[in-house]
Amino acid sequence: MKCRQCQKSAVIKMERHNTSLCGGCFNLYVHDQVDRAITEQKMFDHGEQILVAISGGKDSLALWDVLIKLGYRTAGLHLDLGIEAYSEVSRKKVETFAASRGLDLIVHPYKEAYGLGVIEIAEETARPACSACGTMKRYHFNRIAMERGFPVVATGHNLDDEASRLLGNVLQWQEEYLEKQSPVLSDEGGTWARKVKPLFRLAEREIAAYSILNRIDYIVDECPMSKGAKMLLYKDILNRLEEASPGTKHKFYLGFLKRPRAATATAKPVDLHPCQSCGQPTPGAVCGFCRLMQRVTP
Ligand code: SF4
Ligand code: ZN
Repeated sequence: MKCRQCQKSAVIKMERHNTSLCGGCFNLYVHDQVDRAITEQKMFDHGEQILVAISGGKDSLALWDVLIKLGYRTAGLHLDLGIEAYSEVSRKKVETFAASRGLDLIVHPYKEAYGLGVIEIAEETARPACSACGTMKRYHFNRIAMERGFPVVATGHNLDDEASRLLGNVLQWQEEYLEKQSPVLSDEGGTWARKVKPLFRLAEREIAAYSILNRIDYIVDECPMSKGAKMLLYKDILNRLEEASPGTKHKFYLGFLKRPRAATATAKPVDLHPCQSCGQPTPGAVCGFCRLMQRVTP
């Protein structure tokens, strides 16, 4: 199998683009897709400092790697969720990656901050683990970015993540979520940090290939709490569709973004005020995170 660009020996076949590429041309392809996502969606520019949310998995580490190679100013943020061995290994991978490249890294360990990991917090508050985890992640991404002066938070969501989330939202006609499902979420005039997903044009297997090619050492295990998650079922269904008809995920998600309502990608303006407890912007009196933590037994 030869590279369609330069005739060297190819390392990856990409059915959805009907092409095969060698390592060098594949790296250029990945960088170009990320660059295109950033530019076309007006995510950020080289003057802004980007806080990159790093879990230790392939997507977030690959994103950090690409952003550095594209010349962006970045720092990493790792939330140590306190999920035993999974969190220990994840944190180690992130710290090793940052140290080996001399990158700035902020680590926020839940157990040190709150005395409990995310699973215990979910149990104490009778919330599903992933729901409590989502509330906590969104809160910390925003709070830490705002406190430290980062206008943008980038996450490693890829095409498979976005297409499967879209499928879930369509199957249940979650109109409110559909409106917000964009690779860029506005900063509401500086009230929030802007949230961006620069990997949304790249498939999960392409990011896995990029990570291996570039010797990025990531945690392969999934979070133990993800077992049985609906998203995995949707991903599996989309993978089967993709195999039968290459390009399905791309057409599904990028086609959705081209629709007029999704292109504007904005929910109705929300009336935000400082949370009575922590001061972070919230539409209610007390933000979701503080409401969650108020239910944790002291
Ligand atoms: Fe959090 Fe794990 Fe659930 Fe992901 S799968 S939301 S990391 S608890
Ligand atoms: Zn609050």
